[in-house]
Amino acid sequence: MQTNLPPPGLTECDFQLLKDNAIKARELSYSPYSTFRVGCCIMTKAKACILGANVENASYGAGICAERTAIVKAVTSGHANDWLCLAISGDALETCISPCGICRQAIREFASLELPIVMFNGDGSKFIIKSLQELLPLSFGPDDLREN
Ligand SMILES: [Zn+2]
Repeated sequence: MQTNLPPPGLTECDFQLLKDNAIKARELSYSPYSTFRVGCCIMTKAKACILGANVENASYGAGICAERTAIVKAVTSGHANDWLCLAISGDALETCISPCGICRQAIREFASLELPIVMFNGDGSKFIIKSLQELLPLSFGPDDLREN
């Protein structure tokens, strides 16, 4: 299950920081309906960690995933295009959760296709690393609109 440790551009120490923050970010979750917390950590090339968590709503469709929460925070704090890695962690101990389809597309807007995405289980003892290209093949992105 574990591959390419640590991902390109990260030291072992960076990877530990990434994991700790992806797990810690779950504490920021507002998830009274699903009671399933998800945390996300975007690590910038300067090794800053931007955290996000899922935020639910009584009108279910108004909820937002942890990844998009972190993306909005990153973009609005001047970190739209300097991501080194993105990691997520869910409450499940057996499963390494992966980003939903909408979040994969949202990541595509701001990251290169080589961006490593690290998917941790609940305590960080298991993980899967895939590139954005692997999670979203044949994707549509900003460059496709510029080819007109
Ligand atoms: Zn999502």
